[in-house]
Amino acid sequence: MNYPRLDIDCDKIHHNAQFLIAQLSLKNISVTPVTKVFLGHPLIAQVLIDAGAKMLADSRIENLQKMTESGISIPKMLIRTPMLSQVASVIKYCDMSLNSEIEVIQKLAYAAKQHNCQHEIIVMVELGDLREGVMPNRVIDFIREIISLPNITIKGIGTNLACRYGVAPDDQKMNILSDLADRIEATFGISLEIISGGNSTSVNWALQRTGLTRVNNLRIGEAIFLGCEPLEHENIKGLHTDAVSLTAEVIESKIKPTLPWGSRGLNAFGEKESLQDRGEVSQAIVALGRQDVCVSGLKAPNGIKIMTSTSDHLVLESSQKPLFVGEKVTFSLDYSALLSSMSSRYIHKYFKAPKGKRKEEGAHDATNNCNSLRQCYA
Ligand SMILES: *Cc1c(COP(=O)(O)O)cnc(C)c1O
Repeated sequence: MNYPRLDIDCDKIHHNAQFLIAQLSLKNISVTPVTKVFLGHPLIAQVLIDAGAKMLADSRIENLQKMTESGISIPKMLIRTPMLSQVASVIKYCDMSLNSEIEVIQKLAYAAKQHNCQHEIIVMVELGDLREGVMPNRVIDFIREIISLPNITIKGIGTNLACRYGVAPDDQKMNILSDLADRIEATFGISLEIISGGNSTSVNWALQRTGLTRVNNLRIGEAIFLGCEPLEHENIKGLHTDAVSLTAEVIESKIKPTLPWGSRGLNAFGEKESLQDRGEVSQAIVALGRQDVCVSGLKAPNGIKIMTSTSDHLVLESSQKPLFVGEKVTFSLDYSALLSSMSSRYIHKYFKAPKGKRKEEGAHDATNNCNSLRQCYA
């Protein structure tokens, strides 16, 4: 077994995805699972498909390419506005993309024509969180400029909220999106198939909504993988919140004073903490640091507190019995901790394969050699 290790329970992810797909379909909303936090891992993609996903979304073309090359053949959506410099691969590796720039869509049209294929786009609308999207009063003119481009299908409109400023999705925002869809259809005589109302932060709105809007799609990552609604950091009822965990190993454990001694400047990261003397404590170091994970997103088990992190060391204090050298400590993760640990090549990833797909008990270290499903489950 290699450490630090990220354990990923595919059955729990399967349950969460299936649950959300079922609950939201009762509200006439389709779920497009977002794979970016797992770097488009084909094993996770397959779990999501088995749970009922009809399309997958990712923010990185590399991830969409990896899925395609691993045999994941359902339609794929690029959810970050394409770079002008990558339109050729966008055409090649995805069926649909979210867009907010005319110049990009023109280039997509040109590339799609050259490839003799059709590319679908969703026009993103700015609804106040001030990340991507066309300003609402500019949308009609925007559509007018792209409507006759060859090889481009305007599949719908969408929005993204609560990422930059935590601006909440609510009836008012979703009605603006709905009304815009109606106006676009009336103005241009087209019909918009997808009205995509946001990310995991829209789940509670969608589950509780009573009034009808035209929103019929959400792009969901965090809620599926962590069982959590990001806006209020609340768990979603019916979902597993422990599908992933991070385990690291203790490399030193000693009784030490709480106050450093010697003249003090800034620490290795330019920080200076103010301290108070709490006497002697039971201090342990685990082999995990800022090079591996966004430490502020980790939660230690009861009785253990994360005190400080440096590049390679996480300093803990335990209020109960001291940790011992070689002991393993398991942390829970928030979205940024999962994103960073999946992206770190120092963290070993263990996928607990879904029931029925397990060849042997236990999990397999899929850190470095997992480009095909067969390898992952080996
Ligand atoms: C990341 C992302 C999502 C998914 O966000 P979650 O909070 O993980 O559900 C949806 N849409 C866009 C545009 C994104 O960038």
